Amino acid sequence: CGIFGAIGVADASNFVALGLHALQHRGQEAGGIVAHDPEHGFNSAHRFGYVRDNFTKPEVMATLPGPLAIGHVRYSTAGTKANTAIRDVQPFFGEFHMGGCAIAHNGNITNAAALRRELIERGSIFQSSSDSECIIHLMARSIQRNIPERMKDALRRIEGAFSVIAMTRTKLIGVRDPLGVRPLVLGKVGEEGFVLASETCALDIIGAEFLREIEAGEMVVISKGQIESSRPFGPSTGRFCIFEHVYFSRPDSIIGGRSVYETRRQIGVELAREAPVEADLVCPVPDSGTPAAIGFAQESGIPYGMGIIRNQYMGRTFIEPSEQIRNMGVRLKLNVNRALIAGKRVVLVDDSVVRGTTSRKIKDMILDAGAAEVHFRIASPPTAWPCFYGVDTPDRDKLLAANMTPEEMRDWIGVDSLSFVSLDGLYRAVGEAGGRNAACPQYCDACFSGDYPVAPFDQLERGFRM
Ligand code: 5GP
Ligand code: SF4
Ligand code: MG
Repeated sequence: CGIFGAIGVADASNFVALGLHALQHRGQEAGGIVAHDPEHGFNSAHRFGYVRDNFTKPEVMATLPGPLAIGHVRYSTAGTKANTAIRDVQPFFGEFHMGGCAIAHNGNITNAAALRRELIERGSIFQSSSDSECIIHLMARSIQRNIPERMKDALRRIEGAFSVIAMTRTKLIGVRDPLGVRPLVLGKVGEEGFVLASETCALDIIGAEFLREIEAGEMVVISKGQIESSRPFGPSTGRFCIFEHVYFSRPDSIIGGRSVYETRRQIGVELAREAPVEADLVCPVPDSGTPAAIGFAQESGIPYGMGIIRNQYMGRTFIEPSEQIRNMGVRLKLNVNRALIAGKRVVLVDDSVVRGTTSRKIKDMILDAGAAEVHFRIASPPTAWPCFYGVDTPDRDKLLAANMTPEEMRDWIGVDSLSFVSLDGLYRAVGEAGGRNAACPQYCDACFSGDYPVAPFDQLERGFRM
């Protein structure tokens, strides 16, 4: 999901709408904005579909006045999936005796089912199927006297990944979980405005200045132009999601002081070194494979070309929750540039193989177009484990790499060769010259390694075996 908040600007909801539009790649099912204004109190709008189709309309935006607003774009990884219900669309809102509080959450709470059970037994009335709603109910049970303190109480009971942006009548709050799995950045806009956003690309769109990242385990409370920072969970070492670098974030964002584009290009360089191949053309599977393909071409000296053209009016296929739509999605979204491909030995570079459906379809399309050979190079290690921290990977039985050897995968996809970047190669590309520190990994890489930094409590209860 994508989250954004603004304080200290006129019509904060407009900033939020623009910020969410820049974060649309993080969630395309639905979006919501809550705004506060001393005269009109809290107001909210929750809509299915793209930000640009909802939060540009004057009749929607006019209902969201005020200098303080937060918003969320949804990509369902927990709660109802096939059909998102509008009640699952964030931000969520709670009314406490010290005032209201709206929250927007990115990540997955790994003990949400257990917490929900306990909270319902004790009288909480849930409105949604979302894991994030637990935060509001835990806050309601806290005996602390102000909302930031209640939020700390609540978040200390929560396990898993959470970047949260919240607002009260007067405060904008940002928090990252102790491992800082999902991103969150702080920016400055105008004379006395501040913004919080999932990624820096959302600061650029409103001309905000990037100040810094919120640190792993940090909470910031912003009001009246002042930023107060605290560490509610004690000291911790971050383990940021390495897959944000590979796929999830936008290439024009800066994460951990690094350009996402440059990291992806560097993964392509690593791939060309680890798995060279004789070929005539390097093609990205757009858009997610593009920077890595550029790096592969530069390092190998093989010419780069756009062998696959993407229809810009289709969203991210993987983000479609139903299998059927996802299957159609590949052809609706990608088409082969026949004139370029015919007769050539082609290296196709993509970011990841999850179920393998994308790769197989693309291979068919490339061969139909008359390619002489097809070689797949993948800018991540084999995805052999599900993510429980906010990326919607399927169960192990649907993950190609969990069920096949690399040779079986090559055969199943039907290509002349298939190689994945090594885990160490990926770490080198994100700037860890010595590769992965096995004793104390610098990132979360559980979907590749099976090394889960937070035991996924609910999943273990359901019989998942690490
Ligand atoms: P597959 O067809 O193998 O299941 O999916 C791989 C494709 O989905 C790749 O082209 C990749 O760009 C995309 N993808 C991989 N992981 C994710 C993810 O977590 N979220 C989204 N939205 N797309 C993904
Ligand atoms: Fe990111 Fe993979 Fe860890 Fe999920 S399991 S947080 S996708 S690195
Ligand atoms: Mg892709």
